[in-house]
Amino acid sequence: MWKAGMAQDIGKALISVREKVQHAAARRAKSLPAVQPRLVAVSKTKPAEMVMEAYNHGQRYFGENYVQELLEKASNANIISSCPEIKWHFIGHLQKHNINKLVAVPNLHILETIDSVKLADKVNASWQKKGSIEKLKVMVQVNTSSEESKHGLSKSDTVDLVKHIREKCPGLEFVGLMTIGSFGHDLAQGPNPDFQLLLKQREEVCEKLGLPIDAVELSMGMSSDFEHAIEVGSTNVRVGSTIFGDRVYSKPAKGEASAAST
Ligand SMILES: *Cc1c(COP(=O)(O)O)cnc(C)c1O
Repeated sequence: MWKAGMAQDIGKALISVREKVQHAAARRAKSLPAVQPRLVAVSKTKPAEMVMEAYNHGQRYFGENYVQELLEKASNANIISSCPEIKWHFIGHLQKHNINKLVAVPNLHILETIDSVKLADKVNASWQKKGSIEKLKVMVQVNTSSEESKHGLSKSDTVDLVKHIREKCPGLEFVGLMTIGSFGHDLAQGPNPDFQLLLKQREEVCEKLGLPIDAVELSMGMSSDFEHAIEVGSTNVRVGSTIFGDRVYSKPAKGEASAAST
């Protein structure tokens, strides 16, 4: 639970994470697009007060992976009134019955987890029905580690899904590729193969669809590996516990138990 005194910790943690982000970006190979990495503060399980505290320390991008929790936080009256520039990223597995709820989230910025043609079509229809003049930014989530327990589409389907979104989903704007990757990679063994695979996937998408490399973002890297991810080309890191402290799961939400373990 949130306690007085944590405010200062969030501010300090943000300063430290931002510094690390800048240093890691400076270590990037010159061949990579010089895109300023976006820091997404992952606030899942954390109260609205902590989101506002981070916002007061200059943080603008926040990530959540449960639709209901995102909707509640993004609609919170205090957040709406005191965080006018907040931008929400949805980074969890999206179930079809939750699409309309997600589309209703105020200040939704990027849906990072499109992983099938069916899901893309349904999100597109829902977004168009809402009648927004702007397109909804989406990323395609790739299961780079090919683990069955991980969501995301298989790497052989990436180009087709991106093509489908660009050609058949006028309500959506394809902005990048996302991966969670396997946990606990030992950097002493070399670069994280999940991140390397996502880079390869971007090359393939850009080559086959005629897109410039710097028009396709890479969302990869979390608390344990965001610096490495940026060094190898991540443009969007999702950092939770390093900013907000460890998460305590008392009781996983129904049907979302597997997601709660991430
Ligand atoms: C929870 C979560 C994160 C943040 O994890 P930390 O290890 O706390 O930084 C990043 N990405 C996804 C998809 C998550 O579910």
